[in-house]
Amino acid sequence: MKIEQGVRLGRYTTLGAGGEARAFAKPTTAAEIAEALAWAQERELPVVTIGLGSNLLVADEGVEALVFRLDGELGSAETEGDLLLAGGGAANAVCLHRARAAGLGGFEFACAIPGTAGGGVRMNAGAYGSDWAEILVRALLVDERGARWLTPDELGLSYRHSELDQGQVVARVEFRLEPRDPVEIKAKVAELQALRKAAQPTNKRTFGSVFKNPEHELTAGLILEACGLKGHRIGGAQISPRHANFIENADGARAADAIALMVEARRRAYEQYGVELEHEVQFVGPLELPPLGS
Ligand SMILES: Cc1cc2nc3c(=O)[nH]c(=O)nc-3n(C[C@H](O)[C@H](O)[C@H](O)COP(=O)(O)OP(=O)(O)OC[C@H]3O[C@@H](n4cnc5c(N)ncnc54)[C@H](O)[C@@H]3O)c2cc1C
Repeated sequence: MKIEQGVRLGRYTTLGAGGEARAFAKPTTAAEIAEALAWAQERELPVVTIGLGSNLLVADEGVEALVFRLDGELGSAETEGDLLLAGGGAANAVCLHRARAAGLGGFEFACAIPGTAGGGVRMNAGAYGSDWAEILVRALLVDERGARWLTPDELGLSYRHSELDQGQVVARVEFRLEPRDPVEIKAKVAELQALRKAAQPTNKRTFGSVFKNPEHELTAGLILEACGLKGHRIGGAQISPRHANFIENADGARAADAIALMVEARRRAYEQYGVELEHEVQFVGPLELPPLGS
């Protein structure tokens, strides 16, 4: 497997911002992941796996890491009985297509989540009252200790959270679905996509929800909207005029612009609502939000 240098990660993210990876590889089997992990360990390089970059903010200066993007059989999916067997890098859209073709329902909620099966495990992705934890049977985890299958409990899945470390790779994912008429699945997907289109900036470059919903009667989006942040712009990034928990790449956004918006959003939410917003978007490279009040 080729290990490349000078790959700009921004082009592998939905926001479209961010610098280069020190090294970049596209493993196609669990054995290739193990081989590349050993390569990184010899060089004391950390490892980061990305999916479709749909919940990622990559630092403008790039990342000192070996970055994986799963490919080949780790990027495809098939069904067996009522199981959907996906590579960690399989796009949710591919998984949904396979499930529907096999007359298996239960994955429809993921139709508006533009990521991968493995990224969904890491984030316990979810929408419309369902999430990965509900349909996941087990996931094959590969790290420097080898490969092992873990159940949702062992993965520690909770709201947009898992206990996975950044160096751990979700190579394969098994979901249990249920028999459903493909026509019914198609109708459900159309309904959910229409709901999404009405509420979110689906035609813009974003990384999905910026912040997790806090324990508060208002969602993060409504708090930020009430703080007057819709349309607020810094550099090339702006808080979506449509939904305040989204940051859009308005024009040549840099990660630093998105971070500056996040700092301002957290400050206002804290000052006006006493809420400490926690970021949902995952950072790659030297990015962090300063503590509130600093
Ligand atoms: C328009 C839009 C709408 C969205 N709507 C939703 C929504 O409704 N619900 C929701 O939950 N999310 C939503 N998201 C966010 C995002 O799509 C999900 O978090 C998704 O699960 C991320 O998957 P990904 O493969 O793109 O992961 P990435 O964004 O590439 O990575 C996210 C995290 O997962 C890790 N990761 C990725 N793949 C692997 C792997 N194989 N093994 C180990 N770690 C891995 C990365 O290191 C990173 O920490 C939305 C995003 C956009 C742009």
